[in-house]
Amino acid sequence: MSFSLNVKDELCRLPLGKNCCMLSELTALYRTSGSLSFHGMGRVQVQYRVENAALARRIFRLLRARLGITPRLHYVQHARLGGQRTCVLNVGDEDSQRLMLALHMIEQDEDGSIRYRRTTVRHPMTRQCCRRAYLRAAFLGAGTMSSPDKDYHFEMSTTDQSLVKELSRLLEKCDLPVNTYVRKGQTVVYLKGAQQISDTLALMGAANSVFAMEDIRIRKQARGAANRAINCDEHNFERMLNAADAQVQGIRRFVIEKGLRSLPPALQEIAQKRLDNTDLSLTELGQLFEPPLSKSAVNHRMRRLMDIIRKMEAEAVQAPTDVQEDLP
Ligand SMILES: [Zn+2]
Repeated sequence: MSFSLNVKDELCRLPLGKNCCMLSELTALYRTSGSLSFHGMGRVQVQYRVENAALARRIFRLLRARLGITPRLHYVQHARLGGQRTCVLNVGDEDSQRLMLALHMIEQDEDGSIRYRRTTVRHPMTRQCCRRAYLRAAFLGAGTMSSPDKDYHFEMSTTDQSLVKELSRLLEKCDLPVNTYVRKGQTVVYLKGAQQISDTLALMGAANSVFAMEDIRIRKQARGAANRAINCDEHNFERMLNAADAQVQGIRRFVIEKGLRSLPPALQEIAQKRLDNTDLSLTELGQLFEPPLSKSAVNHRMRRLMDIIRKMEAEAVQAPTDVQEDLP
């Protein structure tokens, strides 16, 4: 299952919550997935259409728990869309009226007569609990997000401009500033920052998904750190090889010029070990001694040896003048 589907699955399993929140969810779900169908003689029915079976079950439970409505559920198989399935929930005539009343789409006068107010829903969202429920349902109906493994991207898309405004305002109220762009006639409300997306998941109540996302974030950071460490090791290794190479060249010149035996025994030993092991670090070179030498002991000997070699080379540069003076 994709990360996005996992988030939705978790959200669909959350407890239905308070009466006010259930209505907030039903409102947001109507706006993203609902429609009205007219059947003549003033009959109007509400329909919810969703792709996700878990979401269909949640809508079913919300309608039952909040309004005592049992919708009829059936599936439509799309031959053209690779057999993709749409879950359709049909609410009966009388139940539709009650639902539309609850969603403030119609009004009932004192004498019991019904007046249609609007074909879109309106829902006051003064409570924080309801804002969270509304956001959760809007994401369930119209949202998707990338796997944090690949990209940090969270979006909800709709053709309903007032919903765009509402969602933008709602997220901004929670310190989550959103961006929008238009794609194939739909306005996409999206978030990009890892922290912002994590905060949004938490706001919707997807606690497990927050942990899953944090896990991925930490793994990604650790991977980055490990890569840097490897690069750093490679850099050090190269430096070590360059140093070893300079030592080998120096020792070879010394051997030709003066012979190893002109060195004190401790330095003879380290010079010979370096010549025999041109690609070992000083620490590794120390391990070849009996008993083993510490890195600092090897370092000390190598520095003394290189001092002697440098001195020899400095004398060699001056040698021609010496030779001239010696000429008769
Ligand atoms: Zn509420």
